[in-house]
Amino acid sequence: MKRGLYKARAVILNSIDYGESDRILTFHTLEHGKLTGIAKGARRSRKRFVGNIEPASEILLVFFHGGKSDMVRVEDASLIDAYSALKSDIERLSQACYLLELVAEMTREGQRLPGVFSLLTGFLKMLETEDGETVLRFFEIRLLSMLGYLPHLDCCVVCRRPFAAEERLFFSSEKGGTVCARCAVSAGSVAGISAGTARLLSMAAKFDTDKLGRLKPGAAFLEESEGILYDFIKFQIGKELKTKKFMAKLKNASL
Ligand SMILES: [Zn+2]
Repeated sequence: MKRGLYKARAVILNSIDYGESDRILTFHTLEHGKLTGIAKGARRSRKRFVGNIEPASEILLVFFHGGKSDMVRVEDASLIDAYSALKSDIERLSQACYLLELVAEMTREGQRLPGVFSLLTGFLKMLETEDGETVLRFFEIRLLSMLGYLPHLDCCVVCRRPFAAEERLFFSSEKGGTVCARCAVSAGSVAGISAGTARLLSMAAKFDTDKLGRLKPGAAFLEESEGILYDFIKFQIGKELKTKKFMAKLKNASL
């Protein structure tokens, strides 16, 4: 990027305190992809940034890019959508933070991805009213698809044989998708997956965000796809996600 002042639509992915009064922010912008910036005096000057730089807020961001360093300087942030319904409920907030962490971990700095921006804002909106677990599963598969990591779901990824109806299937993160029973023997770590779950994931990967409401997944899909998708994501990024652990703690605490 050239040295200068820029304006961008952005969703705050992460915000950490820095020094006495500053904040370091990571945001995903519509125009420039993921960026990291410093908001000078953000913790002192309440007037300038008020609650606008909290994670999961969508803002109109004004920032200065020095031309050399990757870190930009945040000059102004005006609120477009606070997604307030997410912030008044700890479960929904943790689910929103999971979406943010996924985007932060799976994208590179400065990689222009306008589709990911629309996906994120669309799903934050959906998370305010729809079933959280369903929203998370659909977001995972749509994000993987958009970034070119979509697992194979329509045939055996090893022998390429199309599946018969009612066939017992498995999923291997290492092989990158569904495997038949014969290939599963030598595929290393695998998990069972029903044909229905594989089919629904494959459909959800192709659906536009506003049409996802037409898919009505049952409890079996949600349970099965959660482990499979998370294991696949972990395999792709090579680490655990902090918010996933937090969500698991929250679930145990509320039992
Ligand atoms: Zn096979």
